[in-house]
Amino acid sequence: MRLGGLEARGSNMICAVGTPEGQILHQVTIPTRGPQETTADIIAYFADKEIEALGVASFGPVDVRKGSPTYGYILDTPKEAWQRFDLLGTLKGALHVPAELDTDMNGACLGELTFGAAKGLDSVLYVSIGTGIGAGIAVDGHLLHGMLHPEAGHMLLRRHPRDGYEGNCPFHGTCFEGMASGPAIADRWGRPAEKLQDDAKVWDMESHYIAQALVNLILVLSPRIIILGGGVMKNEQLFPMIRTQVRKILNDYLDTKELADMEGYIVPASLQGNQGILGALELARRALADEGGEAAGGPPHLRR
Ligand SMILES: [Zn+2]
Repeated sequence: MRLGGLEARGSNMICAVGTPEGQILHQVTIPTRGPQETTADIIAYFADKEIEALGVASFGPVDVRKGSPTYGYILDTPKEAWQRFDLLGTLKGALHVPAELDTDMNGACLGELTFGAAKGLDSVLYVSIGTGIGAGIAVDGHLLHGMLHPEAGHMLLRRHPRDGYEGNCPFHGTCFEGMASGPAIADRWGRPAEKLQDDAKVWDMESHYIAQALVNLILVLSPRIIILGGGVMKNEQLFPMIRTQVRKILNDYLDTKELADMEGYIVPASLQGNQGILGALELARRALADEGGEAAGGPPHLRR
């Protein structure tokens, strides 16, 4: 069986053909331009690939509520040409296959849940820290949506005592993304994050913000594992610093076997950057199962 996956990003579109087992057979990257020309290229790519279903993991905000009249539409994005664009409907209408769409973050979370570090776990948190910050959340194998979808990248955090930076989120200033995204690091220190590798105070401050955000998410969601992806997390020295700070902030308030094994609890993304596109393939598999009347649900054997 061949499935189609699309990871729709602000900068480019990753299109792949793969199997339900998570094998990627073919993949291309198309630059993101206006919605019409970009989707024309995506449709042209998939047109002769004999895919049986399509899964889309998209930048947002996006309507992920199945049954909503605007399901699969891009909502009020700063990318004006894409505002209110019916991404899923356009692709589905041209390719005539069952299709499902979720956020890019939930896509990456689903990739890790189905094929990666979180395989079979019933509660998974995926956080991407890069140009922006976002989270994908799965509870009992189901991706969390709600009234829109979680926007955990904008949670409010306590300022580091030695941080005078005003934050760069246009909506909240000093929210998580405003203080800890790649552009916020560059703005605060006057140099891109890649050139600050050896500066301990940069990463001490960065891990302070990431750990605070993770503690908030741990307390609310009680995830079984936390997977950290995105460009900033390529800086591996952050992982031990974050684990130490999470333990310090929690201050022994929680006692679980997961937290006792911090190295197994807060881990890097495990799928070589393919977590998003693999999640899109799993969305395609679920779309097909839904169409066939099978119970799509979550993965069959959840570990508890
Ligand atoms: Zn914000």
